[in-house]
Amino acid sequence: DRLISGTAKEREEQYDRAIRPLSLTEYIGQPVVRDQMSLFIEAAKQREEALDHTLIFGPPGLGKTTLANIIASEMGGSLKSTSGPVLERAGDLAALLTNLNSGDVLFIDEIHRLPPVVEEILYPAMEDFQLDIMIGEGPAARSIKLDLPPFTLVGATTRAGMLTNPLRDRFGIVQRLEFYSHPDLTQIVERSATIMQVPIVPEGAFEIARRARGTPRIANRLLRRVRDFAQVRGTGEITLQIADQALNMLDVDQHGFDHQDRRLLLAMIEKFDGGPVGIDSLAAAISEERHTIEDVLEPFLIQQGYIMRTPRGRMVTRHAYLHFGLPTPKNIYN
Ligand code: ADP
Repeated sequence: DRLISGTAKEREEQYDRAIRPLSLTEYIGQPVVRDQMSLFIEAAKQREEALDHTLIFGPPGLGKTTLANIIASEMGGSLKSTSGPVLERAGDLAALLTNLNSGDVLFIDEIHRLPPVVEEILYPAMEDFQLDIMIGEGPAARSIKLDLPPFTLVGATTRAGMLTNPLRDRFGIVQRLEFYSHPDLTQIVERSATIMQVPIVPEGAFEIARRARGTPRIANRLLRRVRDFAQVRGTGEITLQIADQALNMLDVDQHGFDHQDRRLLLAMIEKFDGGPVGIDSLAAAISEERHTIEDVLEPFLIQQGYIMRTPRGRMVTRHAYLHFGLPTPKNIYN
């Protein structure tokens, strides 16, 4: 996790629970997703049916888990949560499925990491609310079929492209979360500050929002750190100046890039002449996992126009050179 140590994790989770929106009306931004989900939920409720299975994709921290929780509470069911890598055997998933009540939501985070044997159990469960499973081994093995109550599967993934086609085809609703605008993130920071009872001026909230990589989770974390700074170095109130000083101290620069972002961009410029460079060479050069680059670092840098993906690999754009005050190479064409 960026910006926090392992020991602070528990407090961080408590804080997360306190500020997590509980209904669609509290869910800020993502207007398309909100409008569509509110309509689909209302229609399913009118028909007294479970909501169609829903796939949510987008980079970490944009509100996938939050949305899954909201779907469950708006539908009046409870949420059972798990994740792809945790479900190792078919039986693990069967145990969860047989524990569901009518109208419940089963949330599977990182659903692209489900082992194929588990994924196969999911197909009939999603399609016909049927559990079809082999028990025992060898000559004593037999297959059993069980009816499941109507439920909604909500799957979350960082990249839709990682899902197998048969799995993706079984979701009736697919939602893509986008990076948040500065005004939306400002609203999120102001809402969290109110819940935490931290005095903040609009310019202070905007400064945190502007430097939060378009991501509510980061905005909320930065708010907490800035609050500490305001308390010790100021009067407790988060002003523009306090926010700016605190974020500089946290090594979050004017574009919201942290040291990992800068390390990635600088490696591309200094070690690979701006690219194109393959993802594995890049991962090796900055000693970072490939999937961290692909899921966490790169999406925002691409969205902001600092990196481009080409068939030959990643390339930095002119903006990256400008960001570091470096001369732009003549042959750069963007
Ligand atoms: P993901 O599952 O995509 O990694 P989460 O749902 O855990 O992200 O969201 C991270 C945090 O950001 C949550 O604790 C929540 O408080 C906040 N958050 C996410 N989306 C929103 C939103 N639309 N409005 C307000 N807060 C949000």
